[in-house]
Amino acid sequence: MKQVYNFNAGPAALPRQVLKKAKEEFLDFQDTGISIMEHSHRGKHYEEVHEEAKNLLKELLSIPDQYEVLFLQGGASLQFAMIPMNFMKPGEQSGYILTGSWSEKALKEADKFGDVKDIVSGKASNYASIPDLPSFSPEEYSYVHLTSNNTIYGTQWASFDGIDHPFLIADMSSDILSRRIPIDKFGLIYAGAQKNLGPAGVTVVIFRKDAAERANEGLPAILSYETHIKNRSLYNTPPTFSIYLLKLVLEWAKNLGGLEELEKRNQEKAQLIYEAIDQSSGFYSGHAARDSRSLMNITFTLKNEELTKQFLKEAHEQGFYGLAGHRSIGGCRASAYNAVPLEACQALRDFMENFQKKHD
Ligand code: PMP
Repeated sequence: MKQVYNFNAGPAALPRQVLKKAKEEFLDFQDTGISIMEHSHRGKHYEEVHEEAKNLLKELLSIPDQYEVLFLQGGASLQFAMIPMNFMKPGEQSGYILTGSWSEKALKEADKFGDVKDIVSGKASNYASIPDLPSFSPEEYSYVHLTSNNTIYGTQWASFDGIDHPFLIADMSSDILSRRIPIDKFGLIYAGAQKNLGPAGVTVVIFRKDAAERANEGLPAILSYETHIKNRSLYNTPPTFSIYLLKLVLEWAKNLGGLEELEKRNQEKAQLIYEAIDQSSGFYSGHAARDSRSLMNITFTLKNEELTKQFLKEAHEQGFYGLAGHRSIGGCRASAYNAVPLEACQALRDFMENFQKKHD
């Protein structure tokens, strides 16, 4: 098989062992004679997968008992809409912290349902850093929304120490399960699975149970969090195969040593690439300010468009996939999610050094 280093931004690399296990079980799930995809979502075999995936996530992320874990569909994008639908009320205002295009999109959806304020925006600095927060009182906003990792710009909240609100909501699509997080700071966390958790098709929502009391009534059942809590994410047919793969990824993460180990590896991996940027005397230039650098998405540019094209071309020829920056900003981006091995980042660092020697 061809040697490939997968730096795709999402859908992204999955652990090899997980794919092998899924392949082994593909035609015959646990001696049942059929695949997991063909089992009823109400049957014993799928039920076990569903509950195990939930329990593993609770264990790995140390999710306290007062939280529910939900498996929904519609991606993080549906959460942009479900959050205001469920939690915005007439006469109240919700607050959004803008750190990139995804937070902008979240705000835009909320704006359709009521009064929304951008508490602070990093747009003026081209979203190169996580902006300092102005002080605000909890009563000002019914909830406050942030994006913990900005997939497109390559910035990340280094810590959540400076932000407090009784109903803090975070889009953690591109850094969930990559580092330890204080879950109890948040009322709701959501993440599309397709970066660190598994394949596309399932969205994880971590929901503090008391938030259900705040939710608006009269919504279509499928769009109400309450429906999914009451039905343990089995209100309608869930994406069973995606949840099965999520379970395998979580087992893999647990066997590796859990969150602490993943965090350590992710720091080591990102550091290799940031070093290649920092030691290049400006041949490569990082987009993110140092104190806001993402461990997941490492964004950089080369001197000009032509050199960038050449870099991406040669990289692709040598098996580096997914290094083109997001279509909205261009440049280059290496996404080093959990399943990207250290060797891939070492190989990329070597490639970057060699490319510079050749073209500087
Ligand atoms: N939020 C963030 C931070 C993302 O990176 C993405 C997708 N790249 C989204 C939201 C949108 O996710 P989805 O495609 O699952 O709706």
